[in-house]
Amino acid sequence: MEILDQSKIKTNNKKRVIKLLSEERSLTKNKVAKILDISIPTVTTIVNELMLEGICQEGGTATSTGGRKPVIIEFLPDSRYSIGVELRKKYIKVILTNLDSKIISYIKSDLNVIDGDIVINSIQENIDKILCESGIDKEKVLGMGISLPGTINEKDLKLEVAANFRLKNLEFKQLQEYFNIPVYLENEANAGALGEFILGAARDLKNFIYISVTEGIGGGLIIDKKIYKGKDHRAGEIGHMTINKHGRQCNCGKKGCWETYASTRALLNTFNDALSEINKDEIIEYKISLKEIINKYNDKDDIAIKIIHEYIEDLALGMQNLMYIFNPDNIVIGGDISVYEESLLKRIKKKVYENNEFYSEEDVRIQFSKLKDDSNVVGASILPINESFGFGKISSEINLN
Ligand SMILES: [Zn+2]
Repeated sequence: MEILDQSKIKTNNKKRVIKLLSEERSLTKNKVAKILDISIPTVTTIVNELMLEGICQEGGTATSTGGRKPVIIEFLPDSRYSIGVELRKKYIKVILTNLDSKIISYIKSDLNVIDGDIVINSIQENIDKILCESGIDKEKVLGMGISLPGTINEKDLKLEVAANFRLKNLEFKQLQEYFNIPVYLENEANAGALGEFILGAARDLKNFIYISVTEGIGGGLIIDKKIYKGKDHRAGEIGHMTINKHGRQCNCGKKGCWETYASTRALLNTFNDALSEINKDEIIEYKISLKEIINKYNDKDDIAIKIIHEYIEDLALGMQNLMYIFNPDNIVIGGDISVYEESLLKRIKKKVYENNEFYSEEDVRIQFSKLKDDSNVVGASILPINESFGFGKISSEINLN
């Protein structure tokens, strides 16, 4: 058993008080002491500190059962802020939230990731912009969480490998120095899983898999309410599961990885190829967006139906594999396709459970992410809050280490 020293106990108690106040919004000190089983003098010391820090305030009195009326302590969600960043190949998203994860400010700007300098400069510029526009004092910002598509070394603040971005060993320490606030890095699918766990479709689920379907496919594996990262924090690279060893060439160097069939890039490529084939006598370069493909599918266009049905079969194949390995409560589909639930979910379920000897719809629930394509950036913004206070609005049970 770990022996906790006094300062650790105090920090831990303080986090528990903040979490309780954030959930209950207002409580008397007696109530806090009773619920958390901490002595009243300790609660008083902590509450006094929190009032000095501006995290809570006195707000009226409660009815008394005799004697002096007890003072109510109120939680102030706008006392601190957090920044979330999501890096994608073609754009960057930056959000500023309060302690309730309410988005105060939101920026999405175009980006063309060619090298690491572009990434760092863009993050820096957009955070400067969001701080300036919101007029929020930087002293009140707990830190920034950055969602990145690849394997992460959290300790050294490094993006180790991002195959689809052709980036390697990109360091983020300079952002910490420039802004003088803590920086936390997280793999995009883990960030998405965290967003869905704290605020979205997978609230308080014990075991679930978050699948981020974007240019590639990433996986956030929540096992026993903890993000499973593996020995070297490289777990969850589910997009590189081989589903056809003689299949399509992947950016990772292998052939037939799941993401070469089931990512949105795969879908776009297949569609563009099909259109070029049909109109090969015409000199037209087809550039179709995911939205246009889904619209065609909804309009019952023959090519769209054929391609999307094949795409869903490949997506379902990988999902079945994940089910067989993990036996999760839920699978949550996030990323770019998450905004097309109405068009896609029914058929995805059909294909996952068709000829599935092991699982039926009652066993593993398939959902689309509730935060839609914002789960990664929202999850990233929860990292500094979780680190500072041990909670992301509702639950503190998630252990990020
Ligand atoms: Zn691969």
